[in-house]
Amino acid sequence: MTNTLFDASMGPHEGSTRDFLILGDGKRISYDEIHRLSGRLANLLQAEEVKPGDRVAAQVEKSPEALALYLATVRAGGVFLPLNTAYTPAEIAYFVGDAEPALVVCDPAREAKRADFMPADGKLMTLGADGRGSLMEAAAAHDEAHDPVAREGGDLAAILYTSGTTGRSKGAMLSHDNLLSNARTLKDAWRFTSDDVLLHALPIFHTHGLFVASNVMILSGGAMIWLPKFDAAQVVGLLPQATTMMGVPTFYTRLLDRPDFDRELVRDMRLFTSGSAPLLAETHRAFEDRTGHRILERYGMTETNMNTSNPYDGERRAGTVGFPLPGVELRIIGEDGAEVPQGEIGQIEVRGGNVFQGYWRMPEKTAEELGADGWFKTGDLGMIDADGYVTIVGRGKDLIISGGFNIYPKEVELLIDEMPGVLESAVIGVPHPDFGEGVVAVVARAKDAEPDPQGIIDGLADRLARFKQPKKVIVVDELPRNTMGKVQKAALQAEHEALFKG
Ligand code: ATP
Ligand code: MG
Repeated sequence: MTNTLFDASMGPHEGSTRDFLILGDGKRISYDEIHRLSGRLANLLQAEEVKPGDRVAAQVEKSPEALALYLATVRAGGVFLPLNTAYTPAEIAYFVGDAEPALVVCDPAREAKRADFMPADGKLMTLGADGRGSLMEAAAAHDEAHDPVAREGGDLAAILYTSGTTGRSKGAMLSHDNLLSNARTLKDAWRFTSDDVLLHALPIFHTHGLFVASNVMILSGGAMIWLPKFDAAQVVGLLPQATTMMGVPTFYTRLLDRPDFDRELVRDMRLFTSGSAPLLAETHRAFEDRTGHRILERYGMTETNMNTSNPYDGERRAGTVGFPLPGVELRIIGEDGAEVPQGEIGQIEVRGGNVFQGYWRMPEKTAEELGADGWFKTGDLGMIDADGYVTIVGRGKDLIISGGFNIYPKEVELLIDEMPGVLESAVIGVPHPDFGEGVVAVVARAKDAEPDPQGIIDGLADRLARFKQPKKVIVVDELPRNTMGKVQKAALQAEHEALFKG
């Protein structure tokens, strides 16, 4: 018996002197160094009585050690549970209470808050070298040789909480096979090899940075430029060393804000990808004009890693997320529960080896969203065009029903985003005495611009049916986003809840 994920991904790198992580200051860490560190840590976890199937929660800053902790947890048969570094002790208390980890790991700076979120009998250690109960110090006393604990493909490797964009975060249970099948598919689809150097500036408490990016690179044997956060100035300096970058849309807009970001810097790059949130057509165009590179947009989520990708070869179609990846089935379901005709909008469902095992301790929610036949209701609305490209139209929860008519916010947003003085927009439904919901557009102004609310409403008059037109346009400096760069429509709705009252 083997440890499915570890043996297939990190296992083969034992003894390899190839670069694995390149830090911002140029320091290089080989595959073997992390392999050995993961062995020490796995021995330590077992000494701390982390048993197969036990959760190891970590709220830690991104570092080589944090990645080694993930690998060590899987190696020791545990279930890794990364937590957003922005979460407050009160939020952590909820996750720790929900997941009941055998061990919680935090940074030394967070340890003082322990009493705020740890159950009295919980075990807490710090990751950094200088904390009390430091994992790294304790690991030094352990042997680096470690036999990976046997785990089958269906056993859990991680629980990852969703971003909480539409409500309370849910713990998605991911198996060894889920993570491995996705990494294998992506390695092929995006042609990763051991010659690749991935610029990695994503957080590792989210599926994008931890599973999509890191697992794929480990499988490929390439190196990662391992940056704790996205700092545009630093990234501009490091891009000439990289061959690929995986990003969220804000990475690209921030790069484009810099006059020193030019074609010459990215001459040796072979691939830029974007996901986690929609990439604006404007960003797509501007990036191609500036660099000659066409960003590859893809679509994924905590519960399924990656669903679709624009093609590596062939047309990368702006505004779409491309085709279902090999091994992933995708269908669009209408209100009557049947598949809609091509070109029509409906609920996106996916099925495949990438689809998670259910929500942690939420059997009812799991039964609602994940059918016995394996189809998962993503909660996203979308359509498939005549050539098979998938477009995300928005989230089911964001659908506005006004006067009995369905309004897809994205259709309205796309038109507003093209108007003068507008950087981007969020169209939401707000309680309305006559219509149930009234359409409201919250518009972020472009730099130094002052868009005219009435001008925006007038500009839509000939282009949208009357019921789709915003009744009110509110201009703001910027849209509220969460740590993954997702626009928080629920926050906007709460803010403007009383707009049409009295
Ligand atoms: P929660 O499920 O807790 O409300 P969340 O859905 O934002 O939070 P994630 O799993 O991080 O949590 O995000 C997945 C979602 O992100 C998808 O369901 C989809 O709505 C959105 N998304 C991801 N990639 C894209 C993309 N390329 N274009 C548009 N939306 C995307
Ligand atoms: Mg979700």
